Amino acid sequence: MDKTQLFGRRVPLTQAPPEATGKPALQLVNGHWQCQRCHQWVAPQDCLPHGVPYCRHCLNLGRLTKHTKLYTIPEPNQFLKWSDSPLSWAGTLSEQQHQAALAVCRLVQAQRDQLLWAVTGAGKTEMVYPALAWALQRGWRVAWTSPRVDVCLELAPRLAQAFAAVPQTVLYGGQPAPYRYCQLTICTTHQLLRFEAAFDWIVVDEVDAFPLATSPMLQRAIVQAQKPAGCHLYLTATPGPDLQRKLKRHQLAVTYLPLRYHGHLLPPLRTKLVGAGGPG
Ligand SMILES: [Zn+2]
Repeated sequence: MDKTQLFGRRVPLTQAPPEATGKPALQLVNGHWQCQRCHQWVAPQDCLPHGVPYCRHCLNLGRLTKHTKLYTIPEPNQFLKWSDSPLSWAGTLSEQQHQAALAVCRLVQAQRDQLLWAVTGAGKTEMVYPALAWALQRGWRVAWTSPRVDVCLELAPRLAQAFAAVPQTVLYGGQPAPYRYCQLTICTTHQLLRFEAAFDWIVVDEVDAFPLATSPMLQRAIVQAQKPAGCHLYLTATPGPDLQRKLKRHQLAVTYLPLRYHGHLLPPLRTKLVGAGGPG
């Protein structure tokens, strides 16, 4: 098989190339089977007819049983070298966007985990372009992930245009195209479960969207897909309580942009009671 298929991934195989290392997909921990792909526990009733336990939680990525082995080859960052910035986007950023983009870029260069908190319509994607260009030029492997398939499908052509020379692969459940080893991966957060220590940088779009916000399994998938020295960028317009807590504890650096692209503040929300307690 093509060994690039195993770079920074965990693939169930019956026959693997010699440089790959394999480990059982289900491991017995304190008398309970634990899946090594999604790290969920296998319930006693989750057995095939002949009594072989399997993982129900990540079944949609292919069935793992106690007889399956997952194979990996450490990520080698085997990509084209960029002598110039690979950014081919011809648009421009407003002054506020430019400042935010610079801040994001500086934090990536410092390999910090960070949050870009910007209102809907602020142009978050474009503000990430300079940092993404820097990361790709440096030879980093990058994933841009979202819990929502529609976000991935909308993003992929934009990134393909903005980074026209950068090979990209798009991964989501039920996609028709086979997996390709590429420097830029655009995928649903579920698909990150197939990776291990692959990415130098992960951009997590719509971090507060369902089901990521409430799924420890998917949150763990991000950490696992990231290299130990890697970092991530969360994008959101509405950070939930978890992110707010991390900000308070200074576990995340933040860039905040309260303005939309045209530089106007959002109109203040007004509440009006309708039909409540009219004149008696
Ligand atoms: Zn699993």
